[in-house]
Amino acid sequence: MTTVVLDPGHGGTKKVGGSSPNNATGPTGLLEKTVTLDVARRAAALLTARGVACALTRTSDTNPALAARARTASATASPVFISIHFNGWKVPTTQGTETFWHKNGNERSKRLAGIVQKHLLAATGFKDRSVKQAAFGVLSPNIHDPRTAAVLAEISFLTDPAEEARLKTPAYLDRIADAIADAAQEYLGGAK
Ligand SMILES: [Zn+2]
Repeated sequence: MTTVVLDPGHGGTKKVGGSSPNNATGPTGLLEKTVTLDVARRAAALLTARGVACALTRTSDTNPALAARARTASATASPVFISIHFNGWKVPTTQGTETFWHKNGNERSKRLAGIVQKHLLAATGFKDRSVKQAAFGVLSPNIHDPRTAAVLAEISFLTDPAEEARLKTPAYLDRIADAIADAAQEYLGGAK
């Protein structure tokens, strides 16, 4: 059984089943879909090393449909599903960390969102844009098992030049990955 499913947002070159190939792009061209996969791989490696069974919804530059991403978790009623994203905005000074659960989501998702937000804020050091609810398709209760806590993290704004530069450094990527792994473990009742 897969305990934790990590969903690297976006991927590929065309829109598939509600999933766009990319959203945010950094000032020098770093793509959100590249960073989401990098961070997810690092977090999965940490969880695996800590004995937590982990799966990714994609392992290369492909774009699974939103329902296919959810199915990776629902197929084994995984307790944790975390969709990993970076934000973008036309104003390059906009910055902050936020985590979403679905507007019709369950209490498990609400609890996981709070834990993920807490750990990500410590990793990014950015303004708390808070835990929010939205109708994100990849979090829809219609495509998830009710036993799954499903959240989506907008870790930081990639459109901020300083943050784009920081997202190219392995130490920072590892810090974000560690925050995601710690959050999953805290939710699951581990020591962290
Ligand atoms: Zn995104």
